[in-house]
Amino acid sequence: MRDHAQVAIIGSGVTGLSTAYSLVNKGLNDIVILEKGHLASGASTRNGGGVRAQFTTEENILLAKWSIQRFRQLGLELKVNFWFRQGGYLFVAESEQELVALRNASEFQRRFGLGTKVIDCDRVQEIVPHMNCSGIVGGSYRRGDGILFPFPLLTGYADFLRSHGTDIETHCEVKHINQANGEFVLETSKGELRAEKLVNAGGGWSSGVCRMMGVNIPTRPVRHQIMAGEPLAPFLKPMVVTLRDGFYMSQGPRGELIGGISESELHGSDPGKSSAAFCEQFSSRVVSLFPMLSSARMMRQWAGFYDMSPDANPILDRMPGVENAFVACGYSGHGFMISPAVGEFMSCLVTGKKPPFPTEPYGLSRFEKGSTRSESLVIG
Ligand SMILES: Cc1cc2nc3c(=O)[nH]c(=O)nc-3n(C[C@H](O)[C@H](O)[C@H](O)COP(=O)(O)OP(=O)(O)OC[C@H]3O[C@@H](n4cnc5c(N)ncnc54)[C@H](O)[C@@H]3O)c2cc1C
Repeated sequence: MRDHAQVAIIGSGVTGLSTAYSLVNKGLNDIVILEKGHLASGASTRNGGGVRAQFTTEENILLAKWSIQRFRQLGLELKVNFWFRQGGYLFVAESEQELVALRNASEFQRRFGLGTKVIDCDRVQEIVPHMNCSGIVGGSYRRGDGILFPFPLLTGYADFLRSHGTDIETHCEVKHINQANGEFVLETSKGELRAEKLVNAGGGWSSGVCRMMGVNIPTRPVRHQIMAGEPLAPFLKPMVVTLRDGFYMSQGPRGELIGGISESELHGSDPGKSSAAFCEQFSSRVVSLFPMLSSARMMRQWAGFYDMSPDANPILDRMPGVENAFVACGYSGHGFMISPAVGEFMSCLVTGKKPPFPTEPYGLSRFEKGSTRSESLVIG
């Protein structure tokens, strides 16, 4: 490993990679990404690939809208196909109260030109003909939302970065961070690296990385489970989400079903651990909503961290009291879909440019000022 870099990025998940990509596009090539596991071994290779702009805060809508536009070009730039398919997101309401919540959300989203539609039960059935709609009172639908396949995007970023001079050091854990002569001195499992600037893109571990610099941030990792089913003939176009229990399911480009559901929280536990209880809970819900799947097989099941912030909006900021250090975390379960915007945002902070978004709503000081707006559409 080399011993000096202009920018060190901790974490090779989608945040670290997209930030490095935007930095390279701004002409900065002297970057080292440090990763304690294999490439993107955190949440970025464990998620559902859902991409939506249907949120309830301006903070998330702005980043998601910008990112959806970018996803449409990014494959061409990186020369990879990550199967971005805009088959829509369908939020399903099973009570009048839930429908009111969706109506309020869609009205708010319309201010940002999203064109989310509130639909009745008949229209829900038209969009998802195989769903058991008894008990469903309506929903909200936005056609421009969709899904993508995370792996090719991550390897596409990594290949691009390596060919443009960025080193990605895997199995290289950052253990301590000190400062000397105006630089950061990172003690890692592969030796020492000095860096002029530092980006903490450590996902569910980012609060621990902040603590290495004496900074406390109010995020916490929460384990979430997810499963993949056997490939089936195409029958499901949109991502289907239920408000009642955070159930979500989509059908990927190879016909496989990907889905999850809210479960009881397990703080700080091994993010890799999955449980039989999840299988039972998910299976019984899936069969009640899609009786045709009663004999479909679950093929794989795994888990990862949602890095939760107190208001479920991202934290994109300078590290308080530490010059030239930056932090991007707290996505609360929707960090993949906003990653192109996050990368652009962070690269602007690092290079001293003005990000294309207002900075204050994403800053850490919002928690002290009490000026937060909470996101209520956290799924899974
Ligand atoms: C089950 C599940 C489903 C999800 N579904 C969706 C979805 O449909 N759509 C969506 O947009 N988002 C989804 N998410 C959330 C999304 O995956 C995350 O928000 C996003 O991947 C976060 O990316 P990241 O790069 O910030 O963090 P990560 O991908 O977790 O990357 C952080 C990296 O930092 C490394 N690291 C940490 N500490 C150190 C250290 N000290 N030294 C070196 N390396 C270190 C870790 O090993 C890790 O690889 C889901 C998450 C889960 C768990």
